Amino acid sequence: MKGWCGVKFDIPAGARQVLQALTAAGHEAYLVGGCVRDLLRGVEPHDWDICTSALPEETERYFAGQRIIETGLKHGTVTVLVDGEPYEITTYRTEGPYSDSRRPDYVRFVPDLTEDLARRDFTMNAIATDLDGNLRDPFGGAMDIKAGLIRCVGEPDQRFQEDGLRVMRALRFAAVFGYEIEAQTARAVHENRAMLDRVAAERINVELRKLLVGESVGDILRQYPDVFCLFWPQLGPLVTLEQHNPWHCWGGWEHTIHAVEAAPADVTLRLATLLHDIGKPACKSTDENGIDHFYGHPAVSAKLADEMLRALKFDNKTRERVVLLVERHDVQIPPKGQVIRRWLNRLGPEAFSQLLEVKRADNMGQAPEKVRNRLAELDVINSKAEQILAEGQCFTLKDLTVNGRDVIAAGIEPGPKVGQVLSELLEQVLSRNVPNERSALLKLLSCKSTKSPK
Ligand code: ATP
Ligand code: MG
Repeated sequence: MKGWCGVKFDIPAGARQVLQALTAAGHEAYLVGGCVRDLLRGVEPHDWDICTSALPEETERYFAGQRIIETGLKHGTVTVLVDGEPYEITTYRTEGPYSDSRRPDYVRFVPDLTEDLARRDFTMNAIATDLDGNLRDPFGGAMDIKAGLIRCVGEPDQRFQEDGLRVMRALRFAAVFGYEIEAQTARAVHENRAMLDRVAAERINVELRKLLVGESVGDILRQYPDVFCLFWPQLGPLVTLEQHNPWHCWGGWEHTIHAVEAAPADVTLRLATLLHDIGKPACKSTDENGIDHFYGHPAVSAKLADEMLRALKFDNKTRERVVLLVERHDVQIPPKGQVIRRWLNRLGPEAFSQLLEVKRADNMGQAPEKVRNRLAELDVINSKAEQILAEGQCFTLKDLTVNGRDVIAAGIEPGPKVGQVLSELLEQVLSRNVPNERSALLKLLSCKSTKSPK
């Protein structure tokens, strides 16, 4: 089927079926919002929202034979499952303000599609299409998509004041799509950023996660630090931090941005790089040669990161891992097998690999001629770690060829001493003083048990 500018829209059979059922019953029905935007961008939509002139009760009646989820009914949304896929069908509506919840405080059903499109946030999200690819696009969204522009529907100040989350949505779409925010909308983002104060932390969290893994995250951090400082005021001193230090060719914020850009597109890694130097301003000292130092900043950064992630209601797993990575980001790791085995033991393979990623990103944000050797060293550490894992080398207690029973059999009394002896054996193996072979370890054990009193 021909769509916009000859684009062939690939619409799933389920969505097609829903639209046909509603139009056959004499109602209007369109695909709308994110899915139309993504079709026009040439990206496969991840869900298919439908809007219709039918009232929710009518919609329910037409799909009486199908499985229906009624959770959004109050707001005019009926979710129909077709072949196991959910389709949200929403009656044309306008809406009241969003106080801080995910949904507007109240909605009013309207007969006209244009009124429904007018309540949507950005022109690119306010386009509807029928099954033949005929667009209903009263606000010029298709042109804005072509130009790569994010523009409010209607008066930007008013739109951000109705729902402060739109400030974050604008930044998120810009970061993910690499679009520009149109000048008036951009001005209104800055001017209305304080509206974010009224938005639930959980809603900001959802947008921030998506924003951070966007390919243009760096540009957004660069252009809108004031917005980020609104929900994370702890960023303020980093944004203005100067660092006179031979390792650094940028101030604190630009260094951080380069590091974030260099980190893989993963929420944990991007958060860790964003926050790794957050404690630097509090730790700054300047020596007699005018060189700045930031002694002890990783621990201060970790404490602040913990506080910031709690404030935005990040889950414990993400928060704990980010804090660990921030705390360790500056450790020196000599590229030697025994050191790497110790780190693998301390952090586990996943966190250790993430630590190497954060260190690499941090280095990528520093003076290039200074860090060449450090980057090469990180490569060596990485390949040695991979080799240790691939060869199944011993780096944890459970990898040892002897266990607690062997220790007891060798004459050590059951209790805490057993664990202690095993740790000592592991230490010997990690240092390569003794191979991880059962006979060698049993021999060592028998020496220990004769030496140590029961
Ligand atoms: P995504 O690709 O992340 O799903 P989306 O634009 O589809 O992006 P949804 O949250 O699924 O985002 O919202 C669906 C549609 O509802 C949007 O395209 C937009 O038209 C409208 N919308 C969503 N949130 C808001 C909001 N806060 N203010 C105004 N309109 C909104
Ligand atoms: Mg969507």
